[in-house]
Amino acid sequence: PVVPATAEGDTPSPAAASANPVAAPPAGAPRRSIAVISHPDAGKSTLTEALALHARAITQAGAVHGKGNRAGVVSDWLEMEQKRGISITSAALQFEVDGVVINLLDTPGHADFSEDTYRVLTAVDAAVMLLDAAKGLEPQTLKLFAVCRRRGIPVITFVNKWDRPGREALELVDELENRIQLRATPVTWPVGDAGDLQGLLDVRHPDDVMAYRRAPGGATLAEEERLTVEQARERWPDRLDHAADSMGLLPELDMPSFLAGETTPLLFGAALTNIGVRQLLEVVTTLAPPPGPREDVRGTPRPVEAPFSGVVFKMQAGMDPNHRDHVAFLRVNSGVFRRGGVYTHAQTGRPFATKYAASVFGRERETIEEAYPGDVVGLVNATSLSVGDTLHDPDGPAVEFPPLPVFAPEHFLAARVADPGRSKQFRKGVAQLEQEGVVQVLISEARGDGQPILAAVGPLQFEVASFRMENEFRAPIRTEPLGYSVARLASDRDAELLAGVSGVELAHRTDGVRLALFRDVWRLRGLQRDRPELELAPLLADA
Ligand code: GDP
Repeated sequence: PVVPATAEGDTPSPAAASANPVAAPPAGAPRRSIAVISHPDAGKSTLTEALALHARAITQAGAVHGKGNRAGVVSDWLEMEQKRGISITSAALQFEVDGVVINLLDTPGHADFSEDTYRVLTAVDAAVMLLDAAKGLEPQTLKLFAVCRRRGIPVITFVNKWDRPGREALELVDELENRIQLRATPVTWPVGDAGDLQGLLDVRHPDDVMAYRRAPGGATLAEEERLTVEQARERWPDRLDHAADSMGLLPELDMPSFLAGETTPLLFGAALTNIGVRQLLEVVTTLAPPPGPREDVRGTPRPVEAPFSGVVFKMQAGMDPNHRDHVAFLRVNSGVFRRGGVYTHAQTGRPFATKYAASVFGRERETIEEAYPGDVVGLVNATSLSVGDTLHDPDGPAVEFPPLPVFAPEHFLAARVADPGRSKQFRKGVAQLEQEGVVQVLISEARGDGQPILAAVGPLQFEVASFRMENEFRAPIRTEPLGYSVARLASDRDAELLAGVSGVELAHRTDGVRLALFRDVWRLRGLQRDRPELELAPLLADA
């Protein structure tokens, strides 16, 4: 049974108070854990709402966090989000379709938070790549797709906004093939060009054609009507033949190559008017892979039936305006998570009690009692955990999952506490932000630990860090932008060779890894030319 969450155990949070009581997920039902990857504005929020509409929401309460219609108490934190028009908080929405429980993990849309998005993608088993019919592959889509490919995550492609003028369907297919070597295998295919959407063909139902009509009276949802092929041909003779001919040019769905990330089931529709969304859900429930064994640090797969284990893939602070809480989001990798269970924190060997466990989407949260492989659990006030940490059942074989990859930072600031009387809070805050992966923290050999370097993939991460230092830790910071844009791993030998070289700074992360920071790649290349002995290995490439 689901009971409203109380972050501290006593007063219900405003979010919980407004939550509708909803049914618990059927225990052990099949799971599909997915994320939508897209460029901002392609329609991710719209699609998310449309998907949830079709499904029986299990742990989603109230509305999906749409833009501009947040109700209730708004925290400073959310004010910052609203001011920037970006979504920083995100988690997972869980719903059920045809007996399958879908975990839809939210990915921050802004490129500056791509490291966050990367971490989310480590927690899913498949992704839906959402394209705008008029735009095709856009920069952020390409970056996120690259992450999926590197991690071997199968991708389902949905071409959105077919109700508006856009590109030709086959042209989009060519773009996938030529730019990212992804062969499209159609599941649905539009009858009518972009902007003239009449219906959808479906390879799974060759005798039917779905026809769509905008509902009268201003409603946005389209009416769906099932036609026979003959009826459809009567209605739109040329358009139907054109659609069937185009679709017929493309290869058929092939599970092995889909699971290997070489082909992608392709669908068309319009999330805004709810066209093609049902079909997308069917593809997710029937084709996307269920949670499978995940490899531990030694490369040994942990079977999903093994005792409970999970990985923290994301940390979030300040979601509940009434409580200064930190939520650690954990993906269950094996076994059953039970709220109240005491698990082992693999990194320290210490016990970790899970009294406050919730499912969270946006600001809504509900207590959950049990979670299964593929599910996401929000552990409230889990300040002792860091992103990448493993929890596991003390009564089974111990397991530790590999740390999450760290991105190559491209922006660097030196930070110091504005009021020296707040130094203690400053140190605490900086350590916490690092633990959560809000920014990377480097200690420069020249500056020392009183003036750590904050390093980020995107500059908005600094705004989040500054905001939290001031509002949460009450230790406002002064920052000095450093003119570096490239970081490389520096071996001991590299450090010797670079000591005293101007325009280069050596600094180490708290995990001991030493980095060398350079103004730009030209400076780096110049130095490498002058000193061919330099190794300077790259960090994980920006994704
Ligand atoms: P996000 O930034 O990817 O989350 O995109 P949104 O869901 O906020 O959508 C961006 C804009 O595109 C909004 O104005 C939506 O109403 C609009 N939009 C989304 N899906 C469709 C669609 O299928 N057709 C049309 N015409 N507009 C859409």
